[in-house]
Amino acid sequence: MNLPNHASVVVIGGGVMGCSTLYHLAKAGVSDAILLERNELTSGTTWHSAAQVRALRSSRNLTDLIRYSISLYSSLEQETGQSTGWINKGSLSIATNEDRLHFIRRQEALAKMYGIAANSVSVDEARERWPMMNSDDVIGAVWSPDDGRVGPTDLCAALVKGAKSKGARIFEQTGVTGIKTRDNRIVGVETTRGEIDCDAIALCSGLWSRKNAAMAGVEVPVWPCEHYYLLTNPLDGISGNLPTLSDHDGHLYIRDDSGGLLVGCFEPLGKAIDPDQIGEDFTFQLLPEDWDHFEPMLENALHRLPCLADAEIRMLLNGPESFTPDGSFLLGETAETRGLFLGCGMNSVGVATGGGAGMALAHCIVHGHTPSDLHEADPKRYPSCFNSVAALSKRVPEILGSHYAIHYPGMQLHSARNLKLTPLHSRWLQHKAHFGQFYGWERPLFFDCDHQPELSLGKPDWYDQVAREVGYAHQQAGVFDLSSFGKIRVAGVDAETFLNRVCTNDMTRSPGRAIYTAMLNQRGGYESDLTALRLADDEYRLYVGTSAIRRDLAWLRRNLHGGEQVEISDQTDEFAVLGLMGPSAADIATSLGAPELNQLGYFCWCEVNVAGIPVQAARLSYVGEAGWELSCATAQAESLFDALSAAGAKPAGIFAQTSMRIEKRFLSFGHDLDTDLNPLEAGLEFSLDWNSEFIGKSALLKFRDQAPANRLVSIVFDSIDAQPLGNEPVYHRGRIIGKTTSAAFGYRIGKPLAIALVSNNCELEGLTVDVDIAGSQNAGSIHTNAAWDPDGTVLRATTR
Ligand SMILES: Cc1cc2nc3c(=O)[nH]c(=O)nc-3n(C[C@H](O)[C@H](O)[C@H](O)COP(=O)(O)OP(=O)(O)OC[C@H]3O[C@@H](n4cnc5c(N)ncnc54)[C@H](O)[C@@H]3O)c2cc1C
Repeated sequence: MNLPNHASVVVIGGGVMGCSTLYHLAKAGVSDAILLERNELTSGTTWHSAAQVRALRSSRNLTDLIRYSISLYSSLEQETGQSTGWINKGSLSIATNEDRLHFIRRQEALAKMYGIAANSVSVDEARERWPMMNSDDVIGAVWSPDDGRVGPTDLCAALVKGAKSKGARIFEQTGVTGIKTRDNRIVGVETTRGEIDCDAIALCSGLWSRKNAAMAGVEVPVWPCEHYYLLTNPLDGISGNLPTLSDHDGHLYIRDDSGGLLVGCFEPLGKAIDPDQIGEDFTFQLLPEDWDHFEPMLENALHRLPCLADAEIRMLLNGPESFTPDGSFLLGETAETRGLFLGCGMNSVGVATGGGAGMALAHCIVHGHTPSDLHEADPKRYPSCFNSVAALSKRVPEILGSHYAIHYPGMQLHSARNLKLTPLHSRWLQHKAHFGQFYGWERPLFFDCDHQPELSLGKPDWYDQVAREVGYAHQQAGVFDLSSFGKIRVAGVDAETFLNRVCTNDMTRSPGRAIYTAMLNQRGGYESDLTALRLADDEYRLYVGTSAIRRDLAWLRRNLHGGEQVEISDQTDEFAVLGLMGPSAADIATSLGAPELNQLGYFCWCEVNVAGIPVQAARLSYVGEAGWELSCATAQAESLFDALSAAGAKPAGIFAQTSMRIEKRFLSFGHDLDTDLNPLEAGLEFSLDWNSEFIGKSALLKFRDQAPANRLVSIVFDSIDAQPLGNEPVYHRGRIIGKTTSAAFGYRIGKPLAIALVSNNCELEGLTVDVDIAGSQNAGSIHTNAAWDPDGTVLRATTR
């Protein structure tokens, strides 16, 4: 078959992601879409997948992708006549310690919220479902009947058959050797068999995606690890199919395979492997067995399944699979190149997610956005520093190992650290900071940490330190290091017109004003929220969230009209930002020679010398205490901090800030805000200027005169011992009415609290609710405004 000269979309890679994307493109009417595979279909990672499909994920939308996969895998045969090998036998998750039990019960609660069947079962019932299991140390279990598995090669055959029937074409033995761009847009591909012009590429090339994307100058931080499962010959006692047994404390998943057992693992530390070592002609191949590496897992397996001792081992399968720096996959358009869409870095859930992810990727290519918010998979969420071989090859083994980890609050990864340091890093070391990594930046979580904190699902080890730091900001003066905020300069004669279109608030306010605003998509959902300082008639500086810089830069650039005279540049590294907050801030400003700061109105900024250091001070707060965010040249950050410190201000970390922002109901993108939620639901209507023609306005107008279907509210718990973490179902009279989006202990109110998105179909103020935390109902009441707002001051803040 000859290659076409042109295709609307070229899908690169014939694994499950490529086949599913092609199928869904064809289904969406893109009948000239083609798939190029340099070897044979499924010959990369897909063919040897264990192909488990576990429905529950960490968010509703990720779960929905798998729910979609399950429905597709169980119905494709009807449509195409080709079986997918779907077997629905359920899965059993066991716990052998209290924290795991708590964790799987949290998952059970989550499953109920997402409409997935999951039930706690007794140890006896667990043993009935898995009679070969040694249950001596099992203390509880959760049964998930919706889970199953599929035949990965059959699945791809069915997807391909369906795609072809709708006009799509597939070219095997056709490698892509170059990606052609013009003005940062995809225009075509070079292949081993000639060139093809195209409008878009779906890069579904598995562990080879980093190198392929580099052909277009795009950074795709994907790196493979070796990944193991053991296969035995047939065993007595196994007849028919068994459910999957998930022994996550033992790092294992176990099921039947051809009458024997399949024992797979996510060992605590994986083994990275260079894709160049794997090579491009790695077709239906495997990596060498490594029994030394697998041995601890084998011991765990022998403990769980004593019958394994007598089993004949068929093989220790070792196949490569790609992982990313945060364990979530990449789906969507890249920041750098328009028309280059990613569907890769599947982190060992590619077969389970593939059906839904291919659907979402095709939707994104056709409509310009995913069908629902998938910010966890946004390719624009990584800084460049994660794309280095050094960072990736250290990080991905830990990511593989964390696949079955209990997600403790405050948990941090240990590899690939110190990639980006704020200008105050050495000062934070002196103050014994415990750091967390955000978009590669090391930010102090809390101070005075003299030991590696113990992780817990109960009262945190750092409770006292955070209480102290909240106390500084509430009763004296605290200094927060905000230097990692993205800072974007927008300048030029058309800057005001441009920002007035891209931002929702009135951006025509005069120089000297700070403006809290949103950037919305056409559907009225949040793309970002930010604070802008108007520096001059033709110049603004936007302060955006630490992790938002790449996404926001791309959004701004994409919405620039041809001919508009606007320069957009990244100034993040040029300025440090220190938040000086608390009742003593005013005296500190005066003592450091800047009394005029006390005359500055809310949401105004001025140039001022603090201890002789030129700063731009903006009167706003993310913690609900009076103060300023002080921006200074990076080189002067230490001097500024030293002066503030000598005048009595004390450092406060992210945990203190988070607690305080939740008390003030200040919202955070990625937690409370996302691309599906609009400002009316968020209760942030004040940031909309209905007189301007901002992007998203026409969508919002449809909702303007009606009560929003959902609302973000505060929930204050009755008991001081409740330990909400966020992402828990909220019940009213036994019915789920929403979920928590952020949670913390509120030191100023003396109670645990959460922000929650709840349905808005009754009077919410004062409504009593129960929040399901790991199976226990925790009573609380709803506040439609901030839980802590003693004098009703409306301190509008930026969201980081
Ligand atoms: C041992 C093991 C067990 C697993 N178990 C599970 C499981 O239980 N459940 C689950 O959901 N997932 C599991 N996975 C993960 C899952 O198999 C993968 O996530 C999935 O198969 C990845 O599919 P893909 O399409 O992204 O990549 P691949 O299947 O690797 O496909 C990528 C294709 O791109 C082609 N390609 C690359 N570069 C080019 C180029 N320049 N031009 C043309 N073609 C190119 C390659 O030849 C390859 O065929 C497992 C993985 C392993 C290794």
